[in-house]
Amino acid sequence: MSELQVYVIIYLSFLALAVITFLILVFIDAPYGRHATAGWGPFVNNRIAWIVQEAPASLMMFFYFFSSSRPATAATLVLLIMWQSHYAHRAFIYPFSLSVNKRAPLITVLLALLFNFVNTYIQGRWLFSLAPDSFYNAAWLQDPRFIIGALVFITGYIINKYSDYRLSALRKPGESGYMIPRGGLYELISCPNYFGEMITWAGWSIATWSPAGVFFLVWTIANLGPRALAHHRWYSETFPDYPKNRRALIPFIL
Ligand code: NDP
Repeated sequence: MSELQVYVIIYLSFLALAVITFLILVFIDAPYGRHATAGWGPFVNNRIAWIVQEAPASLMMFFYFFSSSRPATAATLVLLIMWQSHYAHRAFIYPFSLSVNKRAPLITVLLALLFNFVNTYIQGRWLFSLAPDSFYNAAWLQDPRFIIGALVFITGYIINKYSDYRLSALRKPGESGYMIPRGGLYELISCPNYFGEMITWAGWSIATWSPAGVFFLVWTIANLGPRALAHHRWYSETFPDYPKNRRALIPFIL
């Protein structure tokens, strides 16, 4: 069996799993953060959990880039930089913005780790080895699909990082409670960080024009769509003065 055949099997299996995951998460809130409850097994330190679960996405992408038998191009290098701008931050900077005294269930850490292993394989092998020969050549950087995708990616990136920053700024050192977030897109929706994450990977799908990009976007929607609705419901039930005009995920719509 060729690697491409193995790749397709993994791709389709995990795409089907994304649909199943979505359906499960509609009924069961992913048990981390405010939705964490007893009965999901042991817990681990939250900061270490984020580093351990996200670091492979950064490190494995370097591995796929440098171990490819194809020569690097300006396009593959730019795509690597786009990926690392997100994942080096998510694995090695973002965890240090989180409260020190929080814990995460080991089960969600292991599931996130599995997802990052599979997803980075799907992205990295496609971009640097399995895509049609010379698809990502230097001319790709001038292709409208890349330019539009990169602009969408940057827009999502800014919304995601800025919104996560606003959340982390809500708590004073040592605090662990929840407050109503205000400012920026929080005036319109409860989860602009998730909205930004979805835009980021929609941009990635366009900029890479690849089945791999679609894979990541589908998984992001499956993970974060139901969670945004759960967060919104939780805010409305927890804070009597929660703004009534605020939607969950998509301004004015959802
Ligand atoms: P949350 O919005 O649930 O929490 C983010 C951080 O902010 C946590 O430390 C949380 O604390 C804190 N926080 C959230 N709301 C409040 C509030 N109202 N008051 C005070 N503190 C608050 O995000 P996630 O943890 O689910 O996700 C973090 C990042 O990871 C996001 O950027 C998300 O887009 C991304 N992500 C991407 C996925 C994908 O499939 N691509 C999947 C999952 C996450 P606490 O932990 O105590 O709740």
